[in-house]
Amino acid sequence: MTPQELLKQGLDGFGIEADEEQLAGLWTIAERLIEKNRVMNLTAITEPAEVVEKHLLDSASLLGEGLIGPQMRVIDVGCGAGFPGLPLAVLRPESFFVLLDATRKKLHHIDEVAGELRLFNLETIHARAEELGANPSFREQYDVATARAVAALPKLCELCLPFVRVGGMFLAMKGAGAADEVKDAANAIQTLGGELEEIKQIAIKGSDLTHCIIVIRKKSRTPQKYPRIGAQMAKNPL
Ligand code: SAM
Repeated sequence: MTPQELLKQGLDGFGIEADEEQLAGLWTIAERLIEKNRVMNLTAITEPAEVVEKHLLDSASLLGEGLIGPQMRVIDVGCGAGFPGLPLAVLRPESFFVLLDATRKKLHHIDEVAGELRLFNLETIHARAEELGANPSFREQYDVATARAVAALPKLCELCLPFVRVGGMFLAMKGAGAADEVKDAANAIQTLGGELEEIKQIAIKGSDLTHCIIVIRKKSRTPQKYPRIGAQMAKNPL
């Protein structure tokens, strides 16, 4: 099976309809990542089929679960080279995505790819999440916050839940140890105004890859003293 066939099969497995332009857009994301990775360290995953599974389909799994609908404002915290936010922006043109990261060079790469794909529903922001989350223009302004491979769940909740409006969701993409992470993060989730809704087990069709999506619903506003600066979070985790 070619990587493109794997991509189509994986999307079909999630029940995601993608037209030819969207499929081509996703494939361009994979190609540009592999090309740029030769001169800049963006990802440890470099084989085309692996990029399809671990970056494109893993990102798209959030849509298969129906968690991100149309007309939503989404922030991807610690997006790195654009995952999950960049494939999501291709597949959900009617929603708007902010891709946030503390490393500028990765955002340059996303901007280049987004420019090539003429994605007008995506903006990159170079900042630390703990600073931007205190800014009223961003605080509690998003229907959904996403994060993959950024931090342990207690810290991740402090970085992400301040961005989510009351009623919205924080979607943490995690591996097999998700249930234990949730136990460790029980205090953080409650303190920051969240409530665990569900841990979804995800399987990618045509692949033995599995992961979890931790769905945390924002029930009440996050107290103003959060997020704290990084040193305080490290010294005294919630
Ligand atoms: N989410 C991407 C993925 O799964 O491919 C990137 C994961 S990478 C391992 C973690 C990223 O989180 C890095 O690009 C790092 O710069 C970013 N990051 C970590 N802490 C951050 C913070 N406090 N604010 C913004 N970005 C942060």
